[in-house]
Amino acid sequence: MNLSEHFTLEELTFTDHREFDNTPNADETANLNRLASFLEQVKTVLGGKPVMINSAFRCKQVNDAVGSKDTSQHRIGCAADLRIPGMTPDEVVKAIMASGIGYDQIIREFDRWTHISVPNHPEDKPRQQALIIDKAGTRAYA
Ligand SMILES: [Zn+2]
Repeated sequence: MNLSEHFTLEELTFTDHREFDNTPNADETANLNRLASFLEQVKTVLGGKPVMINSAFRCKQVNDAVGSKDTSQHRIGCAADLRIPGMTPDEVVKAIMASGIGYDQIIREFDRWTHISVPNHPEDKPRQQALIIDKAGTRAYA
């Protein structure tokens, strides 16, 4: 099912943990719709390149299985981990920060993928927070 022009419910709920039913509820699906619309903006500012989603929505069991916290925005369908073929995660972060689009958080994670999120509620103002997470810990992107 398409959530937006280029993003489907299937890719935003994909998980390797197929032993769990990673089906979002109505609120989580509404968040995924907002996330998909935002990912269209991401795709546009990256010149229309393919946006490969590693992980977006995670039900409680999937989120626990990958060692993530309950407060993760992935839990409620507001975050996506993505890769862009031909761009490093750092290039992706820089391009999105420079674009001025309203991300809530953007995180360069282990130099392997980029985590990006929309606010938890549609009425919330995006935090525009940029971070790096790697084996040295979590710090502001600078
Ligand atoms: Zn993430």
